[in-house]
Amino acid sequence: MATQLASTYAELGLFIGGEWLGAEGRKTSPVLNPATEEVIGHLPHASKADLDRALAEAERGFRLWRAIFPDARGKILKRTAELMRERAEEIARIATTESGKSIHETRVEVQMSANIFEWFAEEGRRAYGRVLPQRAPGTRLAIVKEPVGPVAAFAPWNFPIGNPARKIGAALGAGCSCILKPAEETPASALAVARCLVDAGLPAGVLSIVYGVPAEISEHLLASPIIRKVSFTGSIPVGKHLMKLAAEGMKRTTMELGGHAPVLVFDDVDVEKVLDACATAKYRNAGQVCVSPTRFYVHEKIYNRFVEGFAARAKALPVGDGINEKNKMGPLVHARRLAAVEALIEDAKNSGAKVQAGGARLKGPGYFYAPTVLSDVPNKARIMNEEPFGPVAVINSFSEYDSVIQQANRLPYGLAAFAFTDSAHRAKLVGEQLEAGMVGVNTFAISVPESPFGGVKESGHGSEEGIEGLEACLVTKFISEA
Ligand code: NAD
Repeated sequence: MATQLASTYAELGLFIGGEWLGAEGRKTSPVLNPATEEVIGHLPHASKADLDRALAEAERGFRLWRAIFPDARGKILKRTAELMRERAEEIARIATTESGKSIHETRVEVQMSANIFEWFAEEGRRAYGRVLPQRAPGTRLAIVKEPVGPVAAFAPWNFPIGNPARKIGAALGAGCSCILKPAEETPASALAVARCLVDAGLPAGVLSIVYGVPAEISEHLLASPIIRKVSFTGSIPVGKHLMKLAAEGMKRTTMELGGHAPVLVFDDVDVEKVLDACATAKYRNAGQVCVSPTRFYVHEKIYNRFVEGFAARAKALPVGDGINEKNKMGPLVHARRLAAVEALIEDAKNSGAKVQAGGARLKGPGYFYAPTVLSDVPNKARIMNEEPFGPVAVINSFSEYDSVIQQANRLPYGLAAFAFTDSAHRAKLVGEQLEAGMVGVNTFAISVPESPFGGVKESGHGSEEGIEGLEACLVTKFISEA
């Protein structure tokens, strides 16, 4: 099917049942470029009738898609990956314009997203069941894996290409249909991904994309018996709310929620090398990353040098419109995020934290906050307990191994945790003792398509990507034949 709607800001729309739908008769909301605060488009909101149509299409699309063999489904997903790579620069520019993150990061994100489609194209062919040994002659005891059914997926704005790719890739790879509600802040990126799927040959109805008031859409979709699984990435309070809605219909859930990642830096490391890695990871997407390193616990022997080195790197970071190649960090995504980060840092200052770099918003237009380093931050400060989701590193010192592990595990979050050490013994211990779904030892690279991505404790449950990501969209059926 040919694409009729290009993903430009002039043509934002909904995508339902293979049709691109514009603003005609629908409410709209403005989409802003967070680097300039300019309105760059008007996003149509799905009406209740639109959502009902998306549900009916998801039911029809599921029957159609599950009947296509995994090998043929995989060919469409692989072609999608190829198209994403061919259109990489266009998609990256769209994502940077609406999310603010640097063009260097969105270019990488397109490639990562293409890799995700390729992974699920392959992995869908390996949804193996098993056959049990017989208990009587002539019988067959088979366990088969089947797609769970239509998936309602909710993707946030911080990875405008990657979050939709993860959710769509897993659902479609497993043979499910999907209704995706991407973030209203970054709609065109998700539409660009959908365009690749359509041009790769995805049948109408298998995927729909809707926008609107998030709470209204999730309530409507989750109330429908057609939806059999809910996949959400976002904040813990919203995740808990959606779990309650899903419980009414006993729907399967995958919840990828917030984190507050600790980073343990021991005194045996190459400090400059670790500082380079830490500063790069911290200011990636202005800290708006769920696995962003947040609390740095640095051994007292190297503490002062580490704080000074971090502050120097923060001050030297080129900040500005992410579309400009020279900039390494862009703005925060919206005015609410800017206000939230500002309030957290003011509270930390009032609690006794020392500002080593930044500590203030930058002159507008645009939602810019200076790359910030806080040291000596007491546990009572809100920033030590709430996910900052902003460009701020919090650095404290430690001396004892046991107490730093206890500090690292102190919070109800458990998404990512990191440690840097040259000791093989300590590397093994921290991997075992840090309470997180993902632990990086001497690295911040904790996500590849074949590895499970997800948290423990209040950071959620279930994994996206990896064999676990496919499994999350499958149900197990036992067939006993006599
Ligand atoms: P927010 O809670 O309003 O939005 C976060 C995301 O959740 C958005 O994509 C939004 O569309 C969606 N959402 C909100 N309410 C929903 C509902 N009832 N049903 C379905 N979807 C809903 O706040 P925000 O200011 O955009 O972000 C604030 C916090 O969200 C951050 O501090 C962070 O903790 C969390 N967050 C986490 C991730 C992540 O990758 N885990 C990504 C984005 C935001």
